[in-house]
Amino acid sequence: MTSPQAVSNEYDARIRRAEKLVAEKSSASELLSFYKRIASFQKSFLAHISEAALQQPDTPPLASVREALDLTLLLPQFRTFLSLVEQNAPNALAKAAREIAALPSDSWIALLRSYWELGGLFDQQIGAFGQFFPRAFLQPYTAYVAGRTAVPPVLATPRVCPLCGGRPLFGVLRLEGDGGKRCMVCSFCGYEWEFRRILCPTCGEEEEKKLPVYVAEQFPHVRMEPCDTCRFFVRTIDLTKDGHAVPVVDDLAAIPLTLWAHELGYSRLQPNLLGT
Ligand SMILES: [Zn+2]
Ligand SMILES: [Zn+2]
Repeated sequence: MTSPQAVSNEYDARIRRAEKLVAEKSSASELLSFYKRIASFQKSFLAHISEAALQQPDTPPLASVREALDLTLLLPQFRTFLSLVEQNAPNALAKAAREIAALPSDSWIALLRSYWELGGLFDQQIGAFGQFFPRAFLQPYTAYVAGRTAVPPVLATPRVCPLCGGRPLFGVLRLEGDGGKRCMVCSFCGYEWEFRRILCPTCGEEEEKKLPVYVAEQFPHVRMEPCDTCRFFVRTIDLTKDGHAVPVVDDLAAIPLTLWAHELGYSRLQPNLLGT
């Protein structure tokens, strides 16, 4: 389980990393500046959620992530979130925020509920653009709930998140012993679970020659790991190469690698928050 304080520290790290990459003139600077505002909102929203939870002490751990969606607590913040997007997002997203803000709250509830049920599972049905709003808004809550959920025993290497069934967003490689240990990070609740180095999380391919690894000069700490069997790719943020990287942010900054993969005919199973 992860404490709200740890999640809050993670948001601080994301904000600082986005600032640093913008200062270094990352090719994704515009999106990262926008992302920084989202992460700041998420951090204060998390504080709000944790504070409300303190009023109800002694609640037992949850059995599953998706069982809890307390909209009475969340909904009042949705308008604030929509205004933030309207004022800071690139044009198309700002326009969508304006349109959603004009809808009745029933539509907001339907949007948030459908993402809560399907997020990370069947996102193709919602589309990367459509899921931006519920996903960015609910992220602090999913992370908070995941932190309160008991981790079930894991026997093999699960290809979906052991807590919520969500698909992996990206991999992370951390130094361990003489090599690196790979984990997958859930696209819905952010939970991280250990994952074999030579295994496709999409189709289960295990043959090394079907699973090439590419590293571009521009991003020495980002491994592109496509699968020649299913034609999906994962990228893995290699913290053994750059210990200052913050996976969520460095994944957003690696837009050129997504374009490169698309040119080669590989797709991303689970796009990141900004749809790349
Ligand atoms: Zn999950
Ligand atoms: Zn595969």
